[in-house]
Amino acid sequence: GLREEIEELTQRKTQLPELTEDDIVTFEKLPLSIKTLKGLKRAGFTVPTKIQRQSLLFSLAECDVVGAAKTGSGKTLAFIIPILEKLYCSMWTKWDGLGAVVITPTRELAYQIFEVLNKVGKEHDFSAGLVIGGTDLVFEWQRVKNCNIMISTPGRLLQHMTENPDFLIENVQVLVLDEADMCLSMGFSESVNCILEELPPHRQTLLFSATQTRDVKDLIRAGCKNPVFCSVHEHSK
Ligand code: ADP
Ligand code: MG
Repeated sequence: GLREEIEELTQRKTQLPELTEDDIVTFEKLPLSIKTLKGLKRAGFTVPTKIQRQSLLFSLAECDVVGAAKTGSGKTLAFIIPILEKLYCSMWTKWDGLGAVVITPTRELAYQIFEVLNKVGKEHDFSAGLVIGGTDLVFEWQRVKNCNIMISTPGRLLQHMTENPDFLIENVQVLVLDEADMCLSMGFSESVNCILEELPPHRQTLLFSATQTRDVKDLIRAGCKNPVFCSVHEHSK
C-alpha cells in the first residue's frame, strides 16, 4: 500500500549518503516512488545526467541544493523529481494546497517545465498550473487556485501573492529558482527577493543556474540554507 511504499522510501532516503554518483547508473537506483519511475520511463528517461546524479543525492535527502551546469545538461528533471517525491512522501500524513513553487525567468521556459512536469508526473495526483500572466489576474487565479505545484515567472507570482488574500503559501515545501542567473540579468532581483521573504522559511530551496555570477551568490545567500553545491563543468557528461 501507499503507507508501506512511503515508509520504504523514507528508509532508503536515509541511505543516500552511502551512495556515490557512480552508483546511480539508472534512475531506479534512487529512492523514487513507483509513480515517478513509471513517469520517467514513459517519457524515455532511464539514465540520469551528471547534474541529475550529483544533485539528486542531496535534494532527495531534502537538503537545499545549488546546481550549476550549462544549458542542456538536464537541470529541469533535477528539480522536478525532488518536488514530486517530497509532495508524494508527505501526502499520507497531512498535506494539501500549494506545495511547490518553481520560478523561471520567461514564459517559454515555464511552458517547457510545465510539459516535462506533466509528462514525468503523469502517474501522480498532483495538479500543476502556470502563473505567467498574459491574461486577466482574476481569470488566471481561477485556473491555478487549487494547484499543488505552480510554475511561474517572478513578477506575476509576486503580483498574485501581494494582491490576492486567498493565496496561501504557508504549506509551500519546495521552492525552485530555475535559471537564477537569467532571472537576475533580466531584472527580477527585487521580485525574487520579495518572494523569498514571503515563503515559509522551513521550505527546501533548490537553485539552478548556468553560470555562477556574484549576483547569483548573493541570491544563494538570501534564499538557501547551508546548500550543497553541485557543479558540472564543460566537457563532462
Ligand atoms: P537545462 O535546464 O540544463 O538547460 P533541460 O532540463 O532543458 O536542460 O534538458 C535538456 C535536454 O536534455 C532536454 O531535451 C531533456 O529532455 C534532455 N534530458 C534531460 N535529462 C535527461 C536524461 N536523464 N536522459 C535523457 N535526456 C535527458
Ligand atoms: Mg533549464
